[in-house]
Amino acid sequence: MKIGFIGLGNMGAPMAANLMRAGHTVTGFDLVAPCPEGVHKAQDVLEAVRGADVVLTMLPNGAILRDVAAQVIPAMQAGAVLCDCSTVDVDSARAVADLAVAAGLGALDAPVSGGVGGAAAGTLTFMVGGSDAAFATVLPLFESMGQKAVHCGAAGAGQAAKICNNMILGATMAVTCEAFALADKLGLDRARMFDVVSTSSGYSWSMNAYCPAPGIGPQSPADNDYKPGFAAELMLKDLRLSQQAAEAVDADTPMGARATELYTAFVESEDGKGRDFSALLPRFVARGRA
Ligand code: NAD
Repeated sequence: MKIGFIGLGNMGAPMAANLMRAGHTVTGFDLVAPCPEGVHKAQDVLEAVRGADVVLTMLPNGAILRDVAAQVIPAMQAGAVLCDCSTVDVDSARAVADLAVAAGLGALDAPVSGGVGGAAAGTLTFMVGGSDAAFATVLPLFESMGQKAVHCGAAGAGQAAKICNNMILGATMAVTCEAFALADKLGLDRARMFDVVSTSSGYSWSMNAYCPAPGIGPQSPADNDYKPGFAAELMLKDLRLSQQAAEAVDADTPMGARATELYTAFVESEDGKGRDFSALLPRFVARGRA
């Protein structure tokens, strides 16, 4: 397939490289990041999308996505699919899809889980919103970049799944970290705590797969001085998207709201910026009850 790829940052570059390795012709564009080897570098964003069967975007936020979509949609060939893989707000995802469909294009929102490691290894999970036809067109590309693609529903459903998942992740990581700090103060050995919880009803991905306590469980950013991994500011971005969505549909999300407050303080007023999101553990250890 002929693919235009816009946004070749930490995630986009390895995703574009995997598409190229799978035999697709990829033309890439980024305002600053270089093109991975083998990906043709477009001089401007329009060159990247002209004649493409599928245009993929991997951009920082919804405002930038809307801006890029407004530029590229008129230049895309009829019947092509615009597939956004960024994590953005549900409203932006739906607005971009409406614009694309009105122009005779297919549109998908297809945010990912799996991080930079999953992007490099081609093991991402895609959660996808949009039509059956657009999903069928892009499915082979999802299979080249990831291990699983779930068609979640109509436009916006992929972003809805992503923010619900990450709201759970933010809240469970926060409570896992505070439980370790409580265990410390109760004199409970961290390895024993892991042994119990990871096989009891308190288990979760945060505990079992990404344990925030160094030296315990599988290798995680805690074992690398909390270098990301998944940066606290990216978790904060996703939590804020969850709260924006909850506000828009009048959903009561008190745990998500509390996790958002914690990560806001951690990133903006404490030492969380640039650290992994599991670095809440040393933060809780250093503090008493507020
Ligand atoms: P990044 O900042 O490394 O990459 C974004 C790229 O977009 C940058 O290279 C930037 O120059 C480029 N860009 C910005 N405006 C542009 C424009 N107008 N035209 C062309 N290029 C433009 O970010 P990332 O880590 O690759 O994340 C991308 C998206 O994926 C975000 O929405 C993020 O929330 C989501 N995401 C990231 C991770 C992760 O672990 N990094 C995991 C899941 C989802």
